[in-house]
Formats: sequence, C-alpha cells, structure tokens
Amino acid sequence: MNNIFRHLIFPDRCVACDKVLDFNRRKRGFCEECARDIRYAIEPVCKMCGKSIVDSNGELCEDCRRRRHYFVQSKGVYVYEGGIKSAMYRFKYSNRRCYKYTFSRDAVLMHSSWIKDRRIDAIVPVPMYPKKKRQRGYNQAEVIAVQLSKELDIPVYCDIVTRNRLTTPMKGLNDKERQKNLKNAFNFCKKGLQLKRVLLVDDIYTTGSTLDSVAKVLLEGGIKEVYGLCLCVGRGYSGVS
Ligand SMILES: [Zn+2]
Ligand SMILES: [Zn+2]
Repeated sequence: MNNIFRHLIFPDRCVACDKVLDFNRRKRGFCEECARDIRYAIEPVCKMCGKSIVDSNGELCEDCRRRRHYFVQSKGVYVYEGGIKSAMYRFKYSNRRCYKYTFSRDAVLMHSSWIKDRRIDAIVPVPMYPKKKRQRGYNQAEVIAVQLSKELDIPVYCDIVTRNRLTTPMKGLNDKERQKNLKNAFNFCKKGLQLKRVLLVDDIYTTGSTLDSVAKVLLEGGIKEVYGLCLCVGRGYSGVS
C-alpha cells in the first residue's frame, strides 16, 4: 500500500502521547513536543545499573552502593517518567507491540557499541509466567529482545530461563520483599549451551532485584557473565530499599 494511504488509514501515533504523527514524523516514533520532553538515560548515570543520578561526581546510585549485583553492569534507555510511563503502560497492556521499533532503535543508538565491546553471545528476555503470557498474549521483554536480536545480529534465547510461578506485582514492595518475592521463581532449563556472555533484557529497572534473580540462575547454569539492558530506569534512589 502506498505510504500516504497507509498513513491515512492506519496513522502512526506518537509512542509517548498517542497523538497521530504528521506524515513526515511517522518514522520518528515521537511527536515534536514529546521528542523534546523525553529524558534519555544519559550521563550522569550509575556506572552499575544505568539509573540516572544527580551527582555527576558519584559513580554509583544509592541502591548500588548498598548492595552487590549478580549482573556485571546494566544500561537503561529512557528515564521512567512523563510520556514514557504511559508508553510503557500501552506497550505492556494495550498490545502496542509496534513500539518495539522505536524502543529498540533508541536502545541500539545508545548502546550498540557497549554491547559489541562486551562480546555478548546471547540476548535473553526476563521471562513471564506462561499463564500470564497466554492471558496477555505476549511478554513485552521478549518482544524487545527479539527486535534487538534482529538489529544487532545476536541470537535471542527465549527459553533458557523460565518463570515457574506467578509472582506478586513488585509495585509497593520494598527491596527485601522484592528479593523474597522472586526467590526460586526462575529456572535454568537449557543445559549444554556454550554461552559465555548474556544480555538480559527487561522493560523497567527499579532496584535490580528481577535482573539479579535471573542473572543468578544464569550464572548457576554456567553462563560466565550477565549484563542487563532495560528500556526504562528510575532516577537516583529507588526509595524502596
Ligand atoms: Zn507525543
Ligand atoms: Zn545503580
């Protein structure tokens, strides 16, 4: 179908505010106004988890100063605020899987050389409990991981870790409760793979307890190093420790 006709019938919408995009911005993902407002997770960020920090002299955020992680390092793409919050909601719950193009394009623009330098040999999404995935129709972390795999030409493995039970939503839980909630929630189920360095992909990073729980299982399964890439990161201290 001709692009203009396609745009008239199925107009592309701004990922952040959901307004119809002008034809000439349809490939950009964000309308002009939102493009100005989106905060990318760029310096100063925590050297460990990629969260936005205020103090450019500080190396680590408050959360990472308090505890060690199972992953070596993690990066974020957007600061989780404003239009990006509603974008993530639609991406997770309203079937806007098409946002993957904008999200992974931005992730690649920001972090492809970091990923290359880490010599990642597999991309792994944080798994969703199978029943929940069936109900929702997809796992948003997997949608991003698959798209990143295509763009970076790195294989994606969606089934080396599984989530073996439904966990309580993390919102409102403190750090200790989050860790407890995820204890033994994941299983490594692909033995014999010769993978060394894995990039774990998730949608939102808060304290890192989810990445840590999956990273722990991957390390126990024989993976040498686990890195993280999360679409959204908070600012500074998560406030849930
Ligand atoms: Zn917008
Ligand atoms: Zn941190």
